Amino acid sequence: MGERKNFAVAIDGPSGAGKSTLARSVARELGAVYVDTGAIYRTVGYCAWRQGIDPEAAEEICALLPEIQITMGYDAEGLQRMYLNGEDVTKEIRLPQISMYASRVSALPEVRAFLMDMQRDMARRHSVVMDGRDIGTVVLPQADVKIFLTASVEDRARRRWEELKDRGTPKDFDELLEEIRQRDYNDAHRAAAPLRAAEDAVYLDTTGNTFEKSRGQVLEIIKEHIGQ
Ligand code: C5P
Repeated sequence: MGERKNFAVAIDGPSGAGKSTLARSVARELGAVYVDTGAIYRTVGYCAWRQGIDPEAAEEICALLPEIQITMGYDAEGLQRMYLNGEDVTKEIRLPQISMYASRVSALPEVRAFLMDMQRDMARRHSVVMDGRDIGTVVLPQADVKIFLTASVEDRARRRWEELKDRGTPKDFDELLEEIRQRDYNDAHRAAAPLRAAEDAVYLDTTGNTFEKSRGQVLEIIKEHIGQ
């Protein structure tokens, strides 16, 4: 019997739609590797922030790229860890101020190109469930399954509010709502790989859903496509 070919599931959508929690959970169920591509962009954003570089200063950000090495790995629990020049920055990239930095630096085509190989390489070597903004459209256009996951902006802000509270870094709800609106705008209007659903993506709106309900829907879509 030949080995089963690796499969790829692409989950794209706006901030706070529940992509990462759902993707991690279904990856475990399917025996695939979960790849959080937002974490990769956050690592570049964090690097810029730490060096005091204005995230709008395109030239300075681009000049940074040849000097940095971004790698990823998985710990004993299977959680993705991010390294910046060998230093584990998994926790630091979740600081609330890094979200906007990541959104700004990710608009630069140079940054996107710099991070492309690492994402494709993961899909070459493993079966993956990869989440991001342009996975189905740009990174893995041949993915076996593409899901565009979204929810109302209020629902997404509420989820982010709860997540940050649980993490011990609470933030004002209205501020989060505004930030999510701003990030939606940036992600959808940038020239380089803007957030949009691939033509062959299955659109899933999780507004008002419980986690279990969304998880069931995502698994059903995946199983329909890859017949597991
Ligand atoms: O998903 P997360 O919120 O961690 O992503 C941080 C930022 O990185 C997003 O706001 C988005 O601008 C950017 N991003 C991207 N392309 C991806 C993943 C994330 O541009 N594939």
